[in-house]
Amino acid sequence: MSEFERISEHIYVMHAEHGTDRPLLAAVAGSSRTLLIDGGNSSAHAAAFREYLEREGVRAPDMMVLTHHHWDHSFGLAEWSLPAIAQRRTADILRGFAGLEWNEGTLERLIAEGVVSERTRADMLAEYEGDLSRIRVEEPNIVFERFIDVDLGGLTCEIRYVGGDHSEDSCIVYVKEEGTLFLGDALAPSVYGGPMKYTTGKFLALLDTVFAYGADVLVESHGRPASREAFYDDVRRYELLARQVLRHGSDKEAVLRDLRAELELGEDAGLPEELEEAAGYFMNGLEK
Ligand SMILES: [Zn+2]
Repeated sequence: MSEFERISEHIYVMHAEHGTDRPLLAAVAGSSRTLLIDGGNSSAHAAAFREYLEREGVRAPDMMVLTHHHWDHSFGLAEWSLPAIAQRRTADILRGFAGLEWNEGTLERLIAEGVVSERTRADMLAEYEGDLSRIRVEEPNIVFERFIDVDLGGLTCEIRYVGGDHSEDSCIVYVKEEGTLFLGDALAPSVYGGPMKYTTGKFLALLDTVFAYGADVLVESHGRPASREAFYDDVRRYELLARQVLRHGSDKEAVLRDLRAELELGEDAGLPEELEEAAGYFMNGLEK
């Protein structure tokens, strides 16, 4: 069941749906222009959000920005017929995707090359109801390298390239006047091309960048928008974990022991499952 929400005066979202890996989509409506953040994973996904915006009487999107190239964020682009802003790497990769004939064989090859994963196959087949030939990929047409600001009339969106483990082309979008920071998937581990991993250097540098905004609301593409307090409480645990990995390296037992102590978990209390998992990703990210 799709869920929509106006999360602030000028920001409307379609929440993430996990069944077919649909990320959160957002529309930021200024007085003279509306910017869409991410295009969706299919034309059906894009159309559902567009219909919501129409029902709400929101000015139709004038342009969009992609947070990174992954299919779930970008394959809906063609449905919108809009100028699309993207980091150079994002544009390069999507140009390659646009030239492909999408079918089982192509997907098989991309899985073998580590460009997508088995999980992607399942999600794509579900989203496209078994018919991959319906996939249409378009390349973005406004390309930037490091930063680009978009003036929407009374609202400024600062788009910034940050990279990171999840995808080397990750960007974040800060809606300045609303104090809202869209993180895309930037803080997630790598998901393609081998075991999922985090590297301490990239992760901690990214956290510094994110914290420096002092945003009031932070939005991750596959989660729920969070207040600064809630977000910091959650992410602080991962920061402590990363620092223990810096300290102890591949000695996972020592990492978990000291993390447990820092989090002041009782002797018998287990570490939350997501942290245990993340510890594994950090181990995968250590230089061998
Ligand atoms: Zn992603």
